[in-house]
Amino acid sequence: MISLEELLSQISQEDYLKHSRVHPLPIPDEGRTWHIKREDELGFFAGGSKIRKWRTLIPALVNAKVDTAILIGSAYSNNVLGLTLLLQEKGIKPLPLLLKAYEDTPKGNRLFIELSSKPIYLERKEWPQVESVAETLKAKLEGEGKKVEIIPEGSYMKEAFYGALTLALDIVQNEKDLGKTFDHIFIDAGTGLQAQALILGLCLLNHKALVSVLLLHEDPEKFRRELDVWSEMLGISDKPRFNIFFPKGQRGFRPLEGKAFEEIIHFARKTGVWTDPLYSGRLVQEAPLYAQTKEMQGNILIVHTGGLTALFGFQDALTKSFAIL
Ligand SMILES: *Cc1c(COP(=O)(O)O)cnc(C)c1O
Repeated sequence: MISLEELLSQISQEDYLKHSRVHPLPIPDEGRTWHIKREDELGFFAGGSKIRKWRTLIPALVNAKVDTAILIGSAYSNNVLGLTLLLQEKGIKPLPLLLKAYEDTPKGNRLFIELSSKPIYLERKEWPQVESVAETLKAKLEGEGKKVEIIPEGSYMKEAFYGALTLALDIVQNEKDLGKTFDHIFIDAGTGLQAQALILGLCLLNHKALVSVLLLHEDPEKFRRELDVWSEMLGISDKPRFNIFFPKGQRGFRPLEGKAFEEIIHFARKTGVWTDPLYSGRLVQEAPLYAQTKEMQGNILIVHTGGLTALFGFQDALTKSFAIL
């Protein structure tokens, strides 16, 4: 089995930030000490764990001399916004291919995607065919002499997986800095790529923490199958141990609403940490409940995967909460 450091030393990487701090959370809880890893501090538009994926994805595109990248995603995608800017920095043209939003007025990430690039929108009924639409567009552009790459939702690609492996190494660095080890690690999952890389990165490092993945919109069987594929690629023979759990409140890949939104505000007031209504806000609300059900003990780490610019798309909900707080 290859060492993680050795593997990463063979892959071209940009020098984007890859160290985020960990601090305790002021949440008293019998038998459990809660900590949070501040991936949200890794930048603004490119803030959060995704910058890890891009650190290896961008060099792969540059090395392949790609000049146009078709970016598939939702109208509010963190991946599309952050990647658009990093591509432009390299002189690569981003071409976002997005799912049309319900609202007429652009706000939040969508506003900044539209200000930064010229997205193409697909209607909801066309969305299931997005991949073939992207292929057709790619063929057309290649006919015009362009070198094109399609970036799937969440940058779910091998080229991004390597960068995502840096999270496990950075957690081990945090443990050295803090002089403690984590018994449990919580992370949220959209496509699941970052969580899969964390689980396997820890495996390569022989780390004993049990990772619990809050699965927001993937099928758990698909998550397990994909994990097996990466595991084989890395030559890991042990079956990794991890938990998959689901939101107790609202199911599905939707932002939080109503009372859960107030929880985001209460959490920020109590801990000084803002979370977003799609990922981290859900994770900090669900993790303590899950830890209790599973009777977890010891040092627990929540990975705040970032994505705070999404909050600017929810100013109405935030403003309404004034009335209730
Ligand atoms: C994309 C994203 C995730 C999910 O990452 P996956 O690798 O797709 O599971 C989690 N949090 C934030 C803030 C994100 O932008």
